[in-house]
Amino acid sequence: MINSDLSKFADKKFGQNFLKDDFYLKQIIQSMPNDELKVVEIGPGLGDLTKELLHSNNGVIAFEIDKRLCKHLSNTFKDYKNEGRFELKCGDVLDDWEKESLTDEPYHLVANLPYYIATHIILKALKDKMCRSILVMVQKEVADKFSAKPKQKEFSALGVLASSVGEATNCFNVPPSAFVPPPKVTSAVLKITKNSSLDDDNFELFLKAAFSQPRKKLIKNLSLLEEMETLKNKFEKFGLDLNIRPHEVSTKQYIQIYKTIKEINYERKQRSKRT
Ligand code: SAM
Repeated sequence: MINSDLSKFADKKFGQNFLKDDFYLKQIIQSMPNDELKVVEIGPGLGDLTKELLHSNNGVIAFEIDKRLCKHLSNTFKDYKNEGRFELKCGDVLDDWEKESLTDEPYHLVANLPYYIATHIILKALKDKMCRSILVMVQKEVADKFSAKPKQKEFSALGVLASSVGEATNCFNVPPSAFVPPPKVTSAVLKITKNSSLDDDNFELFLKAAFSQPRKKLIKNLSLLEEMETLKNKFEKFGLDLNIRPHEVSTKQYIQIYKTIKEINYERKQRSKRT
């Protein structure tokens, strides 16, 4: 298909911007972990990245929502399917993620994600115990948020969540010209190597409160959850300045504060049960 036809074919509602630049396709493959675990690809589209993944010796399980593309992918990769190296699941990946894990074996997630649900998918993968690493093309701002370090202005709840289970890196940027049709924003490839998985939804809620007003003082934001006097004692105990802003606190310190808030809420529950 020539590029102008491909632009017409692309369905905006599924976030279809096809990566059509060999240089960046190869760069993604070079950034992959060097082992033979299966790869999960979300949104294989026309199969350009899928083809490279299959050449790199890993089996691929692909999830594609667009029925037109499912047909095309089934034809293109029928030989790999017969060899048991390619499996296609046609439908919304989020429906498959209703269960705890996308697959019943360990996998690496590699994908050029549909931007409208990219953050949601990354958070799902951080929770999925079978997912060992994440290598995804996303909007640059999203990659910056997940890979930011404490004291950088982009450090947010997403950075804390990623660094609490592994290490996140913004590998390289990708210009709009690498895609058909070109998106309006610059993209980036984000890599997260996991050493554990998120398993406590309350930690996410805690961080939501902590970063509710990112430029305000952290203690003020946390007063949504806990009395000010109690918070002041905790901040002193952990050597935290009372004026500190949410982005200036390390992941380790967030985990420490969260654990004590959890204990206090738990004790309160116990007390109210007794009375
Ligand atoms: N991987 C291809 C590439 O690099 O050219 C296509 C990437 S395109 C940015 C996103 C792909 O995700 C599209 O093929 C789109 O149809 C698919 N997609 C969008 N929402 C999806 C969902 N909820 N579940 C599965 N696939 C989805």
